[in-house]
Amino acid sequence: MKRETIAIHHGYDGDPATKAVAVPIYQTIAFEFDSAAHGAALFNLDVEGSIYTRIGNPTNTVLEKRVAALEGGVEALSVSSGMAAIHYALINIAEAGNNIVSLPQLYGATYTLMAHFLPKQGIEGRFSKTDDPADVEKLIDENTRAVYCESVGNPAGNVADVQGLAEVAHKHGVPLIVDNTVATPILLRPFEYGADVVVHSMTKFMGGHGTTLGGMIVDSGKFPWRQYPEKFYMFNKPEIAYHGVVYVDQFGAAAYVARCRTVAQRNTGSTLAPMNGFLLLQGVETMALRVERHVANARKVAEFLRAHPNVDWVNYAGFPDSPLYSMAYRYLGDNACSLLTFGVKGGLEAGIKCFDALKLFKRMVNMGDAKSLACHPASTTHRQLTAEEQAKAGVTPEMLRLSVGIEHIDDILADLEQALAHAKS
Ligand SMILES: *Cc1c(COP(=O)(O)O)cnc(C)c1O
Repeated sequence: MKRETIAIHHGYDGDPATKAVAVPIYQTIAFEFDSAAHGAALFNLDVEGSIYTRIGNPTNTVLEKRVAALEGGVEALSVSSGMAAIHYALINIAEAGNNIVSLPQLYGATYTLMAHFLPKQGIEGRFSKTDDPADVEKLIDENTRAVYCESVGNPAGNVADVQGLAEVAHKHGVPLIVDNTVATPILLRPFEYGADVVVHSMTKFMGGHGTTLGGMIVDSGKFPWRQYPEKFYMFNKPEIAYHGVVYVDQFGAAAYVARCRTVAQRNTGSTLAPMNGFLLLQGVETMALRVERHVANARKVAEFLRAHPNVDWVNYAGFPDSPLYSMAYRYLGDNACSLLTFGVKGGLEAGIKCFDALKLFKRMVNMGDAKSLACHPASTTHRQLTAEEQAKAGVTPEMLRLSVGIEHIDDILADLEQALAHAKS
């Protein structure tokens, strides 16, 4: 089936006990075993079923199946936030002494995780000079455990060469992990270009209404863990943290995500609340329609800003003269994302004046909400980075980032018009 249909139906055939048509919220911690033997089979992972909500819950299972299908993967694990998803995706394969090689421009907290937090646990984040896969390859060595990128960068809007990065990663026997939050599987499916694992902040376009934190880790099922019994011993040798299970034997193609659940999630507990799983399911159902409108509105906003005398520059991947265009066109076609940045004429001061004058656009650090949002990355999301780190992340002092919402375009443009008029005065 097509994505629009998968988003509404996949993973749920009605509740067998009640025939409920909407996915029920299984607001329970534990699930009863039929017998000691049934409990043992569940703990052995020999049969499917729920044990304890920290490890899995039927409401979240529907969401996991649905997002896995939307991405074209084999299995997924839902977690409490996008950052939890990214953290688990990395520590599932990297340990002290290992490194992760990443594109330089990342979501603020992801950058901090790799540059400052994981190194304290002995896992080094390495950032390539440019987005070019050849530059990424230079940093890969025998201790590298993954190549990492955002398919569309937040906030810079740069589109990664997912295929080129996958080739480089595979040449060196490591998986490519892609944060697909900004693009969503409606615009881009990284598995079609060779990515091995996709992570999401469900908080953004998936949920879509700025109400619910959530994260997802999706396994393509394609990475050949068996070919690397030493490097990826955690999938190939008995797991001491889970009474000797060998993931590639027990879970086959879904070995990676199974270990995320039974080791990272079971032992550290960043679990998605079932209520939040339910709320995110409501968002996923309408995601395709919303993304379509986000994309159409963003194009009109970009054109409006570029023609405006008070605007210095507009960074929108859908303009053929943008440095982002060739990669964006290759991976997104004409559907450049609804995230764009621009600089108000007059630098930092004028930028802040314009920002403060916005009325319809909410001043906040989120994106992918039905509402139009504006953010000043240098004073918020990227505030904790040094000026040099900010520049590397694609953040300049005067830059405003817009997440264009799904309101009527006339109202969106009217708000920008009045705010830009303020910036000049
Ligand atoms: C928001 C975001 C995250 C973090 O997600 P949370 O749900 O807020 O933890 C990670 N990556 C990208 C690209 C994001 O936009």
